[in-house]
Amino acid sequence: MKENFDFLMPSVNFFGKGVIEKIGDRAKMLNMKKPLVVTDTVLRSMENGPVAQTLASLDKAGVPYVIYDGVEPNPKIRNIQEGKQVYLDNDCDSIITVGGGSSHDCGKGIGIILTNGDDITKLAGIETLSNPLPPLMAVNTTAGTASELTRHCVITNEKTKLKFVVVSWRNVPLVSFNDPMLMLDVPANLTAATGMDTFVQAIEPYVSTNRNEITDGQCVEAIKLVEESLREAYANGHNVEARTKMVEAEMLGGMAFNNADLGYVHAMAHQLGGQYDAPHGVCCAMLLPIVEKYNIIACPERFAQLAEIMGENTEGLSVREAADLSIKAMRQMCDDVNIPRSIKSIGAKPEDFELMAENALKDGNAFSNPRKGTKEDIV
Ligand code: NAD
Repeated sequence: MKENFDFLMPSVNFFGKGVIEKIGDRAKMLNMKKPLVVTDTVLRSMENGPVAQTLASLDKAGVPYVIYDGVEPNPKIRNIQEGKQVYLDNDCDSIITVGGGSSHDCGKGIGIILTNGDDITKLAGIETLSNPLPPLMAVNTTAGTASELTRHCVITNEKTKLKFVVVSWRNVPLVSFNDPMLMLDVPANLTAATGMDTFVQAIEPYVSTNRNEITDGQCVEAIKLVEESLREAYANGHNVEARTKMVEAEMLGGMAFNNADLGYVHAMAHQLGGQYDAPHGVCCAMLLPIVEKYNIIACPERFAQLAEIMGENTEGLSVREAADLSIKAMRQMCDDVNIPRSIKSIGAKPEDFELMAENALKDGNAFSNPRKGTKEDIV
């Protein structure tokens, strides 16, 4: 637990059904003359989907825009370079991201290399940015990474297959939009993957060495909301109440890890994502029960509390027994939303483990893990 800390708050987030209609007016308020809309082809092709609704609001407000729709999942350096070129060729002055974590991180990455130098690999790390990004707004469509309000920008170097993070308060979008109605058509497997990411983003800060009382409160509420709503959102994507609660959980978890950081689940998931181009939420979910079981001895009371927060009956149990129940609850959640149990499912190969383990221990998320591990532990 940290006693002295700085606490980063996201600026403005529009939350609720229909808030996407406000984006045109906000673009005008921010004096955006020609934003680059950063998204992918799936979202762009959806009839009356998140991109169409964003563009309709910009049209209504009379704000011209240019579209870059080349974002790939686990966005690559080539995506941010392409996006930057489209921005410059069209004299854009600002950025609007539409999508999940990949679109937001790609938009942040474009902004970073426009104002902080072309080689983003040199900017990996914490608070490395000297200059502000162009004005940035984020329309979020998954619940999710919370990238629409975090200081993180996660990019994959396609040549080295390494995923790295640029962490800076300058990355936080000026305005973000979380409209649950934009998430109703997220397919079940993506609901599971992104929802499990939210779950992990509330659990890791709860046991992080950088946690504080404020992030604890955010984590507790986020975990309860995921317990109440992820299974329901997975079972029926059009359950608006469940989708809304998942957005609330996502935002709370995002605020928590913006300040308390994460742990080995994310440090290791970045290696799997970079190496095998696998969905981030699935990587996190597969690792969650295994890594947290390993972590228990570092802070058993915290895990016993987690069991209660997750709705387990811990009456009459020892701290260790209660702590073990939290792992059971994590495993149950993974099973209920059909997360594969083995990293073989994403093509992971034992011959890659040593290098991935070395890199996981260097990942920025590793330093706040409650238990300090060795390369052999990670392997
Ligand atoms: P994503 O953005 O990669 O999207 C996955 C797929 O879902 C895409 O094909 C997209 O078109 C589709 N999709 C998105 N919204 C949809 C909708 N409303 N309806 C239908 N389809 C939709 O997925 P993600 O999990 O949101 O983002 C993952 C990325 O974010 C990873 O690169 C991960 O490392 C990163 N990440 C970033 C942060 C951060 O704070 N910056 C935190 C965690 C993860």
